[in-house]
Amino acid sequence: MNISRKPTALQAALIVVNLLLVTGIGALLATRGRSGPHLDHVSGTPPPSILLIGIDTLRQDHLGPPGPGEPTRTPHLDALARDGVRFEQCQSTAPWTLPSFASIFTGLRPYRHGAVGGERDFLSERHTTLAEHLARAGYATMGFAGINYLTGQFGMDQGYVSRPPRATDLTGLDQASSITRLSGEFFAQHRGEPSFVFSHYYDPHAPYAPPPPWHRKYYLGNECRPGEPLTARILAAGGVRGENASRGMYDWLAGVTDPAFPNAQYAAEVNYTDDHVGRLMARLKELGLYEGMLIVVVSDHGEHLGEHGYYYTHALPYQETLHVPLIVKLPGNAGAGRVVATPVSTLDLLPTMLEVAGIAVPDTLDGGSLAGLLLGNGKAPRRDLLAEQGSDPDLYSKTLVDWPWKLMLFREEGRDRIALYDLASDPGETRDLSSRHPDETARLTDRLRATFDPDSPLGKGAPGTRANLGQTDIRLLESLGYVHKRPAAAAGEG
Ligand SMILES: [Zn+2]
Repeated sequence: MNISRKPTALQAALIVVNLLLVTGIGALLATRGRSGPHLDHVSGTPPPSILLIGIDTLRQDHLGPPGPGEPTRTPHLDALARDGVRFEQCQSTAPWTLPSFASIFTGLRPYRHGAVGGERDFLSERHTTLAEHLARAGYATMGFAGINYLTGQFGMDQGYVSRPPRATDLTGLDQASSITRLSGEFFAQHRGEPSFVFSHYYDPHAPYAPPPPWHRKYYLGNECRPGEPLTARILAAGGVRGENASRGMYDWLAGVTDPAFPNAQYAAEVNYTDDHVGRLMARLKELGLYEGMLIVVVSDHGEHLGEHGYYYTHALPYQETLHVPLIVKLPGNAGAGRVVATPVSTLDLLPTMLEVAGIAVPDTLDGGSLAGLLLGNGKAPRRDLLAEQGSDPDLYSKTLVDWPWKLMLFREEGRDRIALYDLASDPGETRDLSSRHPDETARLTDRLRATFDPDSPLGKGAPGTRANLGQTDIRLLESLGYVHKRPAAAAGEG
């Protein structure tokens, strides 16, 4: 691996903030020697402990108040954003869990890390994950995940100090409670040394089943009042194949007729997860760790709530699935309250976190550090905002955002379909402008095709193997809308 190393403005600013807040001027001299990637090179203030919170399936538009004058549904995330920097336009690399989190963990695009579904759903050991970078630098590292896609079964526990519990051992109404408790315990056990925890909350993912009292927090009607079954409407919309429905994906909506019900339950799941973020922040404050920590909150993808004919899943790379929340709270709360409108990518998280930790950032990554944007004195890293779905050469999609334009390329049975949207005037992506703007369409199509071989949706030589799953795991993934037995497709892998 080719490692580049240079002092950055972000590190310098954070050291100054940290010193002013915590250690005094004497430590400033001590930190001058901190230049290597390993903690034994550090004299003076230790690198910050890091919490990466991954909230599955959280739409960006569900942060804050749902409308003018309405109370927020995410008070704890709002508070964290006030202590940190909030990015208004963060793009994920894929509209579903495994490739998206694998990009966050590796800083690589899906076609390079290869954990994309179909025959390739195992993150290769040859990649260096965020946890591995941190562990090599002396961090105590651990992750607690709400779905097995993010555990060792899929190669996603690389770099942890010990084997984390399986997600299926944390199931039930108190899964989020287990993750909150275990995350707090890990930081408590490793207090005094740099620690890293990945805390993954799965609750906003369907089926939406918030525990009491959240189950009636935003819906007080009769969801089973006489009327057309909601599942009939979903299937008639054509967005989800019958085979997915037959695998139990919509069993949780049996008897439901009111379309307001699932949307309210989704909002309740978001609010419930926010409550856990609040509990975890309170624990970190009790431990005296919060102020000095780097805390990142991100989602892997959003959710279709009826847009584009899809319901309560995340299948197509429209903005309701690719536009995700991102909050970065720096040590010492540097930049507190800043809101960044510049579009960024979840690919940028690994280099940003490494830089804050004082660890060398490999120059082989697809993302770049957000240091300049975090400090308010720089630009976005140079890289395209791409998203990918699918591994079958005859059935995949690629998107490219060049604000305000968004190009979508769908390969369907060997033929390409292209659409162009103006996200500024049409954020819901309802008007395809490709015929009205042929020059823009051609320019962006060429740029997209220059990145990907159109006959191979994965990079040539991209690693990737198949996870070894039992029937129980396969049935669980199928019931959640994930089609494990076939390649990811435009409408398949939710
Ligand atoms: Zn997910």
